[in-house]
Amino acid sequence: MLRITELRLPLDHPEEALRPAVVQRLGIADAALQSFTVFKRSYDARKKSAIQLIYTLDCALADEAAVLARFQGDPHIRPTPDTRYKFLGHAPADFAAHVHEGGEKRPLVIGFGPCGIFAALILAQMGLRPIVLERGKEVRQRTQDTWGLWRRRELNPESNVQFGEGGAGTFSDGKLYSQISDPRHLTRKVLTEFVKAGAPEEILFVSKPHIGTFRLVSMVEKIRADIEALGGEIRFQQRVIDLHIDGGQVRGVTLASGEQIDSEHVVLALGHSARDTFAMLQQRGVYMEAKPFSVGFRIEHPQSLIDKARFGPNAGNPILGAADYKLVHHAKNGRSVYSFCMCPGGTVVAATSEPERVVTNGMSQYSRNERNANAGIVVGISPQDYRQDPGDGPVNPLDGIAFQRQLESRAFTLGDRAYGAPGQLVGDFIKGQASKVLGRVEPSYKPGVHLTDLGAPGNESLPDYAIHAIREALPAFERQIKGFSMPDAVLTGVETRTSSPLRITRGRDYQSLNVKGLYPAGEGAGYAGGIMSAGVDGIEVAEAVGASLLKLQRAG
Ligand code: FAD
Repeated sequence: MLRITELRLPLDHPEEALRPAVVQRLGIADAALQSFTVFKRSYDARKKSAIQLIYTLDCALADEAAVLARFQGDPHIRPTPDTRYKFLGHAPADFAAHVHEGGEKRPLVIGFGPCGIFAALILAQMGLRPIVLERGKEVRQRTQDTWGLWRRRELNPESNVQFGEGGAGTFSDGKLYSQISDPRHLTRKVLTEFVKAGAPEEILFVSKPHIGTFRLVSMVEKIRADIEALGGEIRFQQRVIDLHIDGGQVRGVTLASGEQIDSEHVVLALGHSARDTFAMLQQRGVYMEAKPFSVGFRIEHPQSLIDKARFGPNAGNPILGAADYKLVHHAKNGRSVYSFCMCPGGTVVAATSEPERVVTNGMSQYSRNERNANAGIVVGISPQDYRQDPGDGPVNPLDGIAFQRQLESRAFTLGDRAYGAPGQLVGDFIKGQASKVLGRVEPSYKPGVHLTDLGAPGNESLPDYAIHAIREALPAFERQIKGFSMPDAVLTGVETRTSSPLRITRGRDYQSLNVKGLYPAGEGAGYAGGIMSAGVDGIEVAEAVGASLLKLQRAG
């Protein structure tokens, strides 16, 4: 197969135009092109009235070698790389009996979010029969509990947007793109498994694939069934409360029920909200460090405004879908303000996992056809910003959590003290006055938005430097998205769980720096940010566990 990249056609080209375009690009007779498939499709919308589609295509040719020789040195015509996933190895057929007879113990995976799911899936596919321990409930019961907060203001601290089968990304926009470098094509493995589990096939070729919430629910169930069919075990409502460490080697865990499970390979795929578990790990002496993260608000505009600004006369074209954006502003006070987890045609959701705290995030359905666009508008902060003591030594890794909690509790009181979120119109926020009534933009956050003055100094919804930086950034973003600082756009607070506030540092062997057999992974450990990167990290960690269990050497 031969791959063509950067083949450009106008947005409104008919499907039949692709084949002649390939034939022309390769300078071959039509009959010499045996078949072709679209590997990736993106768009270039810099010229709004002449948007182009950009294709990457894989072609089967009668004489591939001759064509490649003719295009030697052309970076856009190359042999198609092999993107199939290759297993490091497989357990011998008697692995199950070996475990049963007290040989090697089964690997444990703590957490069943994207990282834990892919770690468990790869271990199961290698024949290593993992046991997954997930504190939350299975996804359908969890959905009921999550609606409990959104519809009835009732929070279940163990079953919510952050905790339960599928992890934090289950009630999300299901964006599946990531900036990670991927020389081994592991993102392809993640996408392929998602398609097998029921995701739309197009995620394999569109440049910014997304799934949306409803489909994720059934996909997660399907992957769970696959893991179980391969001998894995997935246990819900099993919160890990302690870790057994002996001579620098992990030996097992204790569950909230009191049950103890022995294992010398424990994957920690906890997510960024497992605050109690982070505290337990610190008590047990597991090495971790404070890290930067970001805090801010969520902003909502009419989706039609974003579509118009990005696509001009082509707004609403079904191939383009609902428009997204990515914005950055470097404020005069040295802070960076940027858009985070933008959800086209979606809703702002209540994402707390702790009582009497308010946290925002965003989600959408596959159709992305809700009336508003939303995104986090957040400011980067460093451990020095949030250290809780006046000292100048290393910042306590748990200080970021204390800081998040202060902001989330403040948002609860600035809201309606019943999980309603504090909100303000952008026009009022820029002018520095409290909002009294909503304008053209109806906020989507449930259970509701309580209008206030997010930026008033005494209100302390965010630190002053963050308020100043956001106030400066909103009008500046207007230069990239016309209408971005429209007075009626709505800000909702607070966005605090942008990434983990700490890193559970690991070595090149993927194991904790000071506890052998402990594999910190995914977003909570500071090694991923988003569904795709968490899934890929899960694969890599599973390979490291597999290599250790099977006594194999890993490359790199
Ligand atoms: P998590 O998904 O957080 O999973 C960790 C799991 O560990 C949880 O299920 C938790 O219950 C469990 N756990 C924690 N402690 C314990 C314990 N002690 N014992 C047992 N189990 C435990 N990312 C994107 O890429 N695209 C998006 O569109 C997107 N939208 C999002 C929308 C929302 C509302 C939210 C909250 C997040 C969104 N994200 C999105 C971020 C994405 O969900 C995370 O980056 C991703 O889920 C991280 O995966 P993870 O497996 O590392 O952790």
